[in-house]
Amino acid sequence: MIITIKRTSDAALIEQLIADFKSQGFEVHDSVGTDYHLIGLIGDTVHVDELKVKANPIVENVTRIAAPYKKANRLFHPEDTVIDVNGIKIGGNEKVVVIGGPCSVEGLDHICDLAEKVKAAGAVMLRGGAYKPRTSPYAFQGLETEGILDMVEARNRTGLPVVSELMDSDQIDEFEKYVDVIQIGARNMQNFTLLKAVGKRTTKPILLKRGLANTIEEWIMSAEYIMANGNEKVILCERGIRTFEKYTRNTLDLSVIPIIKEKTHLPIIIDPSHATGNWKYIEKMSLAAVAAGADGLIIEVHNQPECAWSDGAQCLKPEKFAQLIEKARKIAQVIGRDI
Ligand code: PEP
Ligand code: MN
Repeated sequence: MIITIKRTSDAALIEQLIADFKSQGFEVHDSVGTDYHLIGLIGDTVHVDELKVKANPIVENVTRIAAPYKKANRLFHPEDTVIDVNGIKIGGNEKVVVIGGPCSVEGLDHICDLAEKVKAAGAVMLRGGAYKPRTSPYAFQGLETEGILDMVEARNRTGLPVVSELMDSDQIDEFEKYVDVIQIGARNMQNFTLLKAVGKRTTKPILLKRGLANTIEEWIMSAEYIMANGNEKVILCERGIRTFEKYTRNTLDLSVIPIIKEKTHLPIIIDPSHATGNWKYIEKMSLAAVAAGADGLIIEVHNQPECAWSDGAQCLKPEKFAQLIEKARKIAQVIGRDI
């Protein structure tokens, strides 16, 4: 961390600041030039709040050199994290995992039928929301526990591990018992109380979606929250961010794939469904994601998208989903992976 000191600062106040940092265990490098006075802090600065340092009247500016995250940082964990979900591995150079299923669970027969279909298409996990974060309080809110139990039955029949979104820490015990991967949705990415709770109270892998308008660093810091609280099994999921663009529901930021791989050791998967909001664009974005090195895809699939209880416009029919996987497999093989 580099601290720029205001030129006319009182020498005693500078001494005091340096003494404070030394007492916190930092090595302090004091460099005085003709135009600048810089203080360099050497040590573990993750606990230093740069805004608090900046609040000191003698401080002109504070520049963080080291990333503010440690557990997620590739610097301290050079090898890729590979997360095991009932024998299915996500990350590293493992197969690209495809997760398919409806936006919302709509009943037992419906989810079991879709589970068979996504499995036949090549998906290795089943998605389905039972607690839904809907913009309108009048929209369908999910089947809740009944939906989770329907997912369990779909897993019993197909063997596919299940992914579902957790909205409240009250649901952790239920999810710990029944769900294989716990999704934290975009709207809860910075619900720090919830992040701490899933860090402390579950050992299930967490699929952490990027917030609607969050930077990559904020997203990694949310992963850090979960990891720092005890659960290091975090899978990051890019699902598009809010921009001025209106032709898509969100803007899919595929550049996160190489960036997440450079900055962290965590697996990264792509959700082209919520990113584009339109079934027509999902195949192309999926292929691009696989080419860019994504560790997986999570895609909404429905038999009758026009009748879906949520997100019908972005659901692929099972046949289109199967075609997508066939094409994506070829790309995965070109880059030395498989699906
Ligand atoms: C979902 O996966 O159905 C969902 C609501 O996703 P997001 O949090 O990305 O909007
Ligand atoms: Mn959805």
